[in-house]
Amino acid sequence: MARVCEICGKGPRFGNKISHAHNVTKRRWNVNLHQVRAIVNGGNARIKVCADCIRSGKVIKPATGASNRGVQPAA
Ligand SMILES: [Zn+2]
Repeated sequence: MARVCEICGKGPRFGNKISHAHNVTKRRWNVNLHQVRAIVNGGNARIKVCADCIRSGKVIKPATGASNRGVQPAA
């Protein structure tokens, strides 16, 4: 269960937390991931996708998706 978007492949970024006294420790920024049911290869599947991909229309959800409106994913 890696924290990686299954559409764009975006994963966590790593960096340093720096306190006011300039103590440096590792930290990570996770991707804003969501489990969604989407149309993948003609069938429904639960995939983990980032919020950017959902908002930009790269994920077609079954209820509002391609089979109802003839919409193609913005690949
Ligand atoms: Zn994504």
